[in-house]
Amino acid sequence: MDPYSFRRALRERRLAGAGFLDRDGTVSTALPIFYDCLNCPSYCCTYPRIPVTKRDILRLAKHFEMDEDEATAAFTKKGWTSRERVMQHQSDEIFGSACRFLDLETRLCTVHTVRPSVCRGHPDGPNCGYYTFLMAERRDQDDPDFNARAYNVPGEFPKLEAGDP
Ligand code: SF4
Ligand code: SF4
Repeated sequence: MDPYSFRRALRERRLAGAGFLDRDGTVSTALPIFYDCLNCPSYCCTYPRIPVTKRDILRLAKHFEMDEDEATAAFTKKGWTSRERVMQHQSDEIFGSACRFLDLETRLCTVHTVRPSVCRGHPDGPNCGYYTFLMAERRDQDDPDFNARAYNVPGEFPKLEAGDP
């Protein structure tokens, strides 16, 4: 099964079960969300700056049965400030570079249950700007599988904040 068929199958299964249980056992309509991550090449997983906290690193370390230092070295790199750690990247055919934990075939996160808090919170609202753009381009170009590229500037990292050494 090709990656998009796989993702569509997941999406259809999810839509079939849309809604949530109220306390009285009735099924309510889910609140409106205007994006669908299973219909997207996971642009947000390609941001150059995906910051991870100490707690995120400890959760990943436990998952991979490592200690904190090992996980820090294996999964993160220096970030935009002197103390920040961000996710390491891998080469990606679509966007040039992507989080080391993104499955480049399925475009799904391989550490979904233990992903960093910043990933859990994104996009923090009912809309995702990239998804809106993607849908407009797929419609305009009459191509349901079109992936709108965005350019992550190579070598733009790190930019230290004012006051950092
Ligand atoms: S949050 Fe937006 S960019 Fe990220 S996977 Fe979902 S739709 Fe795509
Ligand atoms: S940890 Fe998972 S959700 Fe977070 S950026 Fe990486 S692939 Fe995406």
